[in-house]
Amino acid sequence: MVPKSSISLQFVVVGGGIGGLSVSIGLVLSGHKVTVLEKAQELSEVGAGIQIPPNSTRILEQLGCKTEILEHALVPKAYHFCNHKGDNLISLELDPYCASKYGCKSLHIHRGDFHKCLVQRARELNITILVNSEIVDIDLDHNIAITHDGRKYQADVIIGADGLNSNVRNSIFGRNTSPTNSGDQAYRSLISIPEMNKHPELDFIHKVPCVNFFWGPKGHVVTYPLKGGNTCNVVVMAPDNLPPDSSVVAADKKEVLHFLETWDPRLQLLLSLATSTFKWRLQYIEELNCWSHPAQNVTLLGDACHATLPYLAQGAAQAIEDAAALAYLFGKIKDKSEIRFILKTYERIRKPRTTRIVNSSKECQQIYHLQDGEKQKLRDLKCAMDPPQEGCPARWADPEFQEYLFGYNIFEECHKQWVLSKTMKEKL
Ligand SMILES: Cc1cc2nc3c(=O)[nH]c(=O)nc-3n(C[C@H](O)[C@H](O)[C@H](O)COP(=O)(O)OP(=O)(O)OC[C@H]3O[C@@H](n4cnc5c(N)ncnc54)[C@H](O)[C@@H]3O)c2cc1C
Repeated sequence: MVPKSSISLQFVVVGGGIGGLSVSIGLVLSGHKVTVLEKAQELSEVGAGIQIPPNSTRILEQLGCKTEILEHALVPKAYHFCNHKGDNLISLELDPYCASKYGCKSLHIHRGDFHKCLVQRARELNITILVNSEIVDIDLDHNIAITHDGRKYQADVIIGADGLNSNVRNSIFGRNTSPTNSGDQAYRSLISIPEMNKHPELDFIHKVPCVNFFWGPKGHVVTYPLKGGNTCNVVVMAPDNLPPDSSVVAADKKEVLHFLETWDPRLQLLLSLATSTFKWRLQYIEELNCWSHPAQNVTLLGDACHATLPYLAQGAAQAIEDAAALAYLFGKIKDKSEIRFILKTYERIRKPRTTRIVNSSKECQQIYHLQDGEKQKLRDLKCAMDPPQEGCPARWADPEFQEYLFGYNIFEECHKQWVLSKTMKEKL
């Protein structure tokens, strides 16, 4: 639960993406005022589908967004992990398993729909969202965010939720801080399921809503249905061949088909039905020394401080957990003099978890993209263990890691850490 603060602070949130909107909603619920500054001309979310794991659904319920999201989302029955020839390595039930074990469902949704649900909730709470407001600098002496056209927004706390190439991060560190290239890119396509219906050999991909993985040499493929089962989200990870100065460009379908030449022919058929494909460079952020400015009330959230490879489908989920942590902790504030203490507590709670997830996602790149050979055989043997054991290559099936990802309750964690921090502070 989000507690309600006895004082009301003014926040500026830079970036109206999934993380920025989630923290704005949470902070208003905890009694504060928020202005969101978004650089785009209109509020929208680019890309295709997104998975919302149970650790995230739990929070979205508390933010008051769950009902709306459920109207647009699908509930996957299972994860299926196959090799690149289409042979099943391991499957993991998701529904009703997640609801009965973790109290929350795993979902998938179109990003645009997800974003709209958050915007709608923000509007219900009268949050000010200003588009065409790119923040180019932060005046750290006065806690002021400065837009490209010279507008100034002063706040008690500024939160940089401005994504991978965060300007707020550059301001905090006083230098340009670039993300790291992973060596992979993602081809993203949305494919019409009525078109797929003309090919019964593709039924296995979409007849039952599931997340399908195909692991192969130098890449992997992920598919899941969206939009009430009318569209199939298909992502193909492959070696990065984007021009150095671009992070997303339209892709020639022939390129994807060439990459999949030796894979399960049904994947070739599937991708041949794509009407448009974009490719995205996949980057991540190496662990930062800190997330907040050492002396001023400016901090970071989401991709701005821990962008991760999408291989555990946890990037947005971690941004939403950050949002919930800030909402909880600022719900406890009694005096402005506690802001620095809260920002330190936020970082202490969030950094170890997000670092483990970024590093584990990088490890997945090694696990999923093995060439055929001894290491691949060993991987496949480990997948075949029934029941799955700790270290299972399909990371969600590893019982310890699954509990770590899905069982995490950020509100309980914040409560525990808040009590601990207060006790430690009183002892000092
Ligand atoms: C192929 C792929 C698949 C993925 N799948 C999943 C998944 O299934 N599940 C999951 O949880 N995550 C997934 N992710 C990760 C997820 O998309 C991101 O982690 C998430 O969108 C980060 O949200 P954010 O709000 O921190 O940043 P962003 O979504 O990048 O939002 C940043 C916002 O800030 C704005 N902005 C940027 N600079 C400025 C500025 N200077 N001033 C003002 N505004 C600014 C931008 O316009 C944008 O609106 C995936 C990522 C990729 C690439």
